[in-house]
Amino acid sequence: MDSSWVTIGYLISAGFFIFGLKMLGHPRTAPKGNQYGMLGMLLAVITTIAQMQLGEDGIISWTLIISGILTGSIIGYIMAAKVEMTGMPELVALFNGFGGAASALVALSESWTYIAEGRIEPTGLDLYVIVIAAGLSALVGWMTLTGSLLAMYKLKGGIEVFGKWIKTPTWGPSWLNPVKAILFASVIALIYLSINDLGNSDYLWGIIAVSCLLGIVLVLPIGGADMPVVVSLLNSLSGIAAAFTGFIINNSVLIIAGSLVGASGLILTFIMCKAMNRKLVDVLFKSFGGSTKESLTRTKVGSDAEEVAMMADGAQKIIIVPGYGMAVSQCQHQVKEFADLMTEKFGTEIKFAIHPVAGRMPGHMNVLLAEANVPYEQLIEMEKINPEFSDCDMAIVIGANDTCNPEARTGEGPLAGMPIIDADKARTVVIIKRSLSVGYAGIDNDLFYEDKTMMLFGDGKKMMNELNSAIKEL
Ligand code: NDP
Repeated sequence: MDSSWVTIGYLISAGFFIFGLKMLGHPRTAPKGNQYGMLGMLLAVITTIAQMQLGEDGIISWTLIISGILTGSIIGYIMAAKVEMTGMPELVALFNGFGGAASALVALSESWTYIAEGRIEPTGLDLYVIVIAAGLSALVGWMTLTGSLLAMYKLKGGIEVFGKWIKTPTWGPSWLNPVKAILFASVIALIYLSINDLGNSDYLWGIIAVSCLLGIVLVLPIGGADMPVVVSLLNSLSGIAAAFTGFIINNSVLIIAGSLVGASGLILTFIMCKAMNRKLVDVLFKSFGGSTKESLTRTKVGSDAEEVAMMADGAQKIIIVPGYGMAVSQCQHQVKEFADLMTEKFGTEIKFAIHPVAGRMPGHMNVLLAEANVPYEQLIEMEKINPEFSDCDMAIVIGANDTCNPEARTGEGPLAGMPIIDADKARTVVIIKRSLSVGYAGIDNDLFYEDKTMMLFGDGKKMMNELNSAIKEL
């Protein structure tokens, strides 16, 4: 095949990736952006296969390629079709890990050809670049795999082994930081040594083992409300591993796609840090809070839907604060029905307060509310909506907890410094959740016990249905 066709194929797929990424920036255009990304990937795969088939040796085993594509597609389809909306973050963490592992495996097979086959082409500087890139790809790729698997189990809260539920630990004594530095320095030393001793596979296994360990010790201490930052950092790392691998196998589209994932993941990481008022170094090296759950001692009498409906009747402005519980109960359609009912029946002004880390993945609330056709104009970001709570008659918190926990303002505990939705500044607060139990960060919430707070205990969907029926009867 004339190599210019390969370049053109890769260029077009890179174009799809770039436009797709741009479109992911807004909920309205995001589905199209996703389709562009898929098209870009399809084109990149077809171009690579065509390049191999029309190259010098042709494709050695079609059976291997077709069975690989079929197995990957079937597993991917089943996982994506089966996953609950609340399980998406775990799936994303798993895919990050697989991405890192795929890059690391390609790097391993390339390095292996140098060792086992004693390949010496290319030579000079090019050879150094390839060996260093292979080492870095192995470091980032294996670290991303083990780190992502641990992140996935942290998001799940634990792992089931032979029917026994084992809670994922959050553990990070201060001496772990020097250990991380030593492990990192060891990998760099091993890469350096491997350059001067190309035929020795021991270095390669050493790099893999230490990188796997590094991924675990990096993620192990992270808990509290910091997991969103880690998941997006791991996403970025999986892209960086792919870009390194692109250098090794001289594949331009892999370098471009990897750099795009790496850069956008890093931007998202910094956006999340800003939203949480945390520095990335603090997230990675200061074990904060952990996820040990506080035992609750206080009690609060619950209200009922009729009482809340009567209070809502007199409200001119209501701000709805959605959180993870809305995703669990999938009550976004009932929430939209409530907003429509209030506007049509009483002319109430309704807005939605969106915390950047509400739920379990970036944009979780936006995705759910967009699915229920809530107009984008009603979804207001935290900094913009917070000043409005003081002149708001009622805040309705649906399955949110950490993101409106006033404890964050005290500067202590797992939520320290995280900006929150100022729901407690509304004249009346209604909180819909099943119990007084804690959220992701594992700490009690004073807002539940305030005099102006009415607790509507129950599953989000059930309570929203009851509330809507009570409003209709007014
Ligand atoms: P939280 O996790 O703080 O709280 C969710 C609440 O929902 C729980 O207290 C639970 O209470 C309630 N709930 C659960 N199921 C239901 C149900 N069926 N019906 C009604 N309520 C229910 O949620 P927030 O959204 O406020 O905060 C998100 C947290 O997750 C933050 O700490 C954030 O850092 C973290 N996180 C965010 C990620 C992201 O990217 N967005 C990723 C990883 C972590 P009860 O059991 O009493 O019903």
